[in-house]
This record gives sequence, structure tokens and C-alpha cells, in this order.
Amino acid sequence: MRPSRPHEFACACAVACVLAEATLAWAQLPGMPKPHAGSAIADAAATPPAPPEAEAPDSPRADMREFLRLAMKRGDFEAAALVLATGGLSIPKMGATGFAHDTARRFDLRITQTWPALVPFTAQVPELAGVSLPVVARCGRDAFAEAMLFTHRGLSGPAILQISSYWRPGQEVAIDLLPDLDAVQFLKQRRHARPKAELRTILGEVMPQRLAAVLESHPAERLNDWRLTPTGTEGYAKAEVTLGGVDTDELSSRTMEARKVPGLFVIGEAVDVTGWLGGYNFQWAWSSGWVAGEAV
Ligand SMILES: Cc1cc2nc3c(=O)[nH]c(=O)nc-3n(C[C@H](O)[C@H](O)[C@H](O)COP(=O)(O)OP(=O)(O)OC[C@H]3O[C@@H](n4cnc5c(N)ncnc54)[C@H](O)[C@@H]3O)c2cc1C
Repeated sequence: MRPSRPHEFACACAVACVLAEATLAWAQLPGMPKPHAGSAIADAAATPPAPPEAEAPDSPRADMREFLRLAMKRGDFEAAALVLATGGLSIPKMGATGFAHDTARRFDLRITQTWPALVPFTAQVPELAGVSLPVVARCGRDAFAEAMLFTHRGLSGPAILQISSYWRPGQEVAIDLLPDLDAVQFLKQRRHARPKAELRTILGEVMPQRLAAVLESHPAERLNDWRLTPTGTEGYAKAEVTLGGVDTDELSSRTMEARKVPGLFVIGEAVDVTGWLGGYNFQWAWSSGWVAGEAV
């Protein structure tokens, strides 16, 4: 559906913001249908050039060769700009779809390989679900000093979520279970001071008792360098972010507009930009959305 007053349409907004289900921009345009919660976006494509009379002479995008078409359950919309803001692949139960990537692909934008990131590991670990402790988790040259949590299926907690973004299947992860201590030295000193104490009791001074009971049979040096190869991750179902996405080379870093598709913008999680835990992904989504909003 094209609005009856194209000049007003083009100048007042010139944007179809694919902002989740609401497409709020439409609500503020005179004569536009109200946004409709639950109106999933089915398709987006470029349409042939608009007829000359439909182009406002002073439209910021009067030189555009194509309009972008957005197909929704309630009908089709056309606009001079389209912002893909439908996120990445994590977590489908909360509404994630591959829409942004699929659409970008159809416009011939490169998509870098995607992986679930900030995600728990599945691994064969002792039955210690609920036990947590501060660790340093390492994969290759990357390391994070944060808390780790044993789960029913493997490992989670901030240290694991962080390192998962650097891990690839088959790689080993090294975990320092006593990051503030040299385990060998510590055990020597404590055994000297408390010769009758059981090892699990001594270890229990510096780590949760349940873990100490499991680890008492391990060589002391392993406590600073516990190695395991995760069997996998919990996948997009549990991943807080999607690593990979629309290649940043395809987009203007100033406006997030696709270099080869004028009027098409991609922001947020859909783009190949992934942050650590700590609000960086929100910040990226908001900042990239803001610059795109300024540009349309
Ligand atoms: C459990 C969890 C915890 C997180 N915690 C943090 C944190 O602490 N700090 C941080 O920085 N980041 C965190 N993140 C990541 C952060 O939420 C995302 O990076 C950010 O929300 C991305 O914003 P976005 O607008 O690009 O995409 P989203 O916020 O994913 O929004 C995209 C929207 O588009 C909708 N959509 C998808 N396809 C369609 C379609 N075809 N039609 C209509 N609508 C569609 C989706 O349902 C969704 O509502 C967390 C993520 C999760 C899942």
C-alpha cells in the first residue's frame, strides 16, 4: 500500500522502521494504518522505480531508483528507506528469526558465519549443578576472570558465557579454579599447618565444599589448570547474542546504510558486531539505531 500523499510520506518519514512488531514510525504518519502487535514481517524487497508523479521533488530520496517494499500480514508497504532491526538468531522462543539475515542476503549483502555466543557450554562435568565459584576461564589467548556455575548439562556463569564467544567446536578450555592462589604452594602450606586435616577440608577453605570433595583426588597443579573440551553449547536457544551477521564492510559506519542498496539500513544484533557481557550489545543496538535514525 502506498500512501495517498507521497510527498508527505517521503518527507515526513521516508522510513519504514522494521522495529520488531510495532513499526512505530507508521503510527505517526497521517493516514497510515495503525501498527498491529503480532504483525510479523513476512518479506522485504526492492520494487521497480516509483512513477515520477509519486516522487516529491524535494524528497530527501527523490534520486532513489527503487522503493523498498515490506510485506506484512496486514498488507504491503513501500518506503524510501527500510531499517532492518529484527535482531539475530538468539533466542527463537522470544521471537528471534533469521529475517534480517535472510533479507540482507536477498539484497546481496554478505553475511558472516553465525554462532551462538554468550552461551553456556554442554560438557561432561561432575554432578555439581548449582555450585559456583570465581575462576579464570581461558580459550587460546583470551581469558575472563568471572564467576563460573556448574549446571545439569555443563558449565555456565559469566566466565563461561564470555569465553564461549571465542570458543569453536573441538577447542579445549582451561579453567583456573583457584585464580588467587598457587594451588601447589597453598596445599603444601596448609598440610604442614594442619597435618591431620583431610584434603577436602583444606580445599573447602578456598572453594565450595561439594567441589572440594570432587577435586581432592585431582593433582594439585590441575586446580590452576583444569582442562576440558566442551561437547558443544546450549545453542541459540540459550545464547544471549549471535556472533556474526551482516558484514560491517557492507555498511556505512556513519549511517549503517548498505553501501550497495541506498535506503536499506541494518542495525543492532543483525550486524556482525558482538560485545562482551556488560551492556555492550544493548549499547551497540541503541547507537547503531540512533545513527540510522539520524540518516533516514
Ligand atoms: C536473555 C538475554 C539477556 C541479555 N542480556 C544482555 C545484557 O545484559 N547486556 C547486553 O548488552 N545485551 C544483552 N543481551 C543482548 C541484547 O538483548 C541484544 O544484543 C539486543 O537486544 C539487540 O537489539 P536488536 O534491537 O538488534 O534486536 P532484538 O532486541 O533482538 O529485537 C529484534 C526484534 O525483532 C523481532 N522480530 C524478529 N523477526 C521478526 C519478524 N519477521 N517480524 C517481526 N518482528 C520480528 C524480534 O521478536 C525482536 O522483538 C541479552 C540477550 C538475551 C536474549
